[in-house]
Amino acid sequence: MEIRFDGKKALVTGAGKGIGRDTAKALVKCGAEVFVLSRTQEDLDSLVQEYPGIRPVQCDLGDPVATKAAVESVGPIDLLVNNAGINIPQAFLDVTLDTFDTVMNVNVRAVLQVSQIIAKGMVERGTGGSIVNVSSLASKISAKACTTYCASKGALDIMSKVMALELGPHKIRVNTVNPGIVMTNMMRKIGYDDPDKAGPFLSRIPLGKFVEVDDVVHAILYLLSDKAAMVNGASLPIDGGFLTS
Ligand code: NDP
Repeated sequence: MEIRFDGKKALVTGAGKGIGRDTAKALVKCGAEVFVLSRTQEDLDSLVQEYPGIRPVQCDLGDPVATKAAVESVGPIDLLVNNAGINIPQAFLDVTLDTFDTVMNVNVRAVLQVSQIIAKGMVERGTGGSIVNVSSLASKISAKACTTYCASKGALDIMSKVMALELGPHKIRVNTVNPGIVMTNMMRKIGYDDPDKAGPFLSRIPLGKFVEVDDVVHAILYLLSDKAAMVNGASLPIDGGFLTS
């Protein structure tokens, strides 16, 4: 099954590192013109060095004024990947309102804001489009010290379904991918490269291994593409079968 995006314009948020970075590279290889939005300028510079055609947009999605200006600056977009996300682990009783707002602002509010700007353009042009929101298995299962993260991804799943419902008549499909643990910076920062911490989670994965970045990238490409023409409002677990255990 060959997936091509020739003539399409794509925007990937959180494309400086991890899943977003590799998604942006894969989209370039599939022929899309790719805009990469992220927070750290050096990450964007190194992406442009690797792929000179890539279009960098530096922005902190926690800042709604900067986000509006940045996303409006990219112009018409056909394919949107809302990938940027953060996790600030705190035990439930210790969660501060500041942390709650910080996580929700990036993981949920920014997705709303970016998608509104991009989808309004799609509706006005009547060209349709496809949006993939990078959620998590954490929307479906609880995890210790992840109150805000789980809440944000739960909110993202159901917001995506409402988007699918309302944007579907405009030929805009909206889906989520819901990966289990992928060993990126995000997971290393919270200690999942420690076998003692990772072991109990790993033991519940029927396929016996963690998800690779490419497993997520391939699912995103499929959902963005016309091969998924009738897939709308879906949440796709990428978890090696964890949810069956
Ligand atoms: P990484 O931390 O490796 O990369 C996240 C990227 O998003 C970085 O480039 C980061 O930039 C950027 N980013 C974060 N906050 C902002 C912001 N406020 N404004 C702009 N850019 C921002 O994470 P992953 O690749 O692991 O995660 C990507 C997505 O996948 C997230 O939504 C995450 O929740 C989800 N996910 C990850 C899983 C995993 O196990 N890794 C599992 C399930 C879901 P910077 O470094 O400059 O802050």
